[in-house]
Amino acid sequence: MEDFCYFCGHSGANTKEDIPPLSFFPKGFRKTIKVPAHYRCNKKWSDSKAIEYCRNLLTGLSHSNSIAQRLFMTKSRRSILRNYPLRKKMISELRKEIDIYSPRGIYLGSTPGVQYDAKLMDEFIKHIVKGLYYHHRGIVLSAQANINWKLQPFYRCPEWINRLPTIVIDNNIFRYRYAILSSNPIRSMWILGFYDLYIGTVIAATDTHSP
Ligand SMILES: [Zn+2]
Repeated sequence: MEDFCYFCGHSGANTKEDIPPLSFFPKGFRKTIKVPAHYRCNKKWSDSKAIEYCRNLLTGLSHSNSIAQRLFMTKSRRSILRNYPLRKKMISELRKEIDIYSPRGIYLGSTPGVQYDAKLMDEFIKHIVKGLYYHHRGIVLSAQANINWKLQPFYRCPEWINRLPTIVIDNNIFRYRYAILSSNPIRSMWILGFYDLYIGTVIAATDTHSP
């Protein structure tokens, strides 16, 4: 089982990937979930703009979390200042309440104050959910897995979420709740908590690779 890459589903995994990525933590923090991956898949992912973009966005939105704020003022600030197109993009996105649609055009509600790059967020959430799903079930979710998600502050989370057990990686940085449908295990729901935000994620896939 350890031999399979959680991302591409092929055998020959020769490294481990951190869930969530290490750049979501301050220096010295190393509490992550490790999942098997190919070096090439891991490298492609760590080089992707999605991690940096989402770290900047999520730390920037977590106003009452001191770790997020510190990360935002150091790592995120450096990356935003260094990267002019990213800075321009983030400034233009941080604006009034907007409607959120899934990549397939399903209306997911509205969120205060921010519009974000759905493609980069999608890429990011897919990696996190695939990693966690593999961690719990030992099953690789298909690349075609259909994911709908929305980003919302903690206080706007629905009541029922409180009934799910929370798995805490680091209480101030990352924790999650999940439910996998017993009648159809490919359908699952993931509530990902980054800093003081929750991302509600619904994932459905029909094609999986099970080691
Ligand atoms: Zn791979």
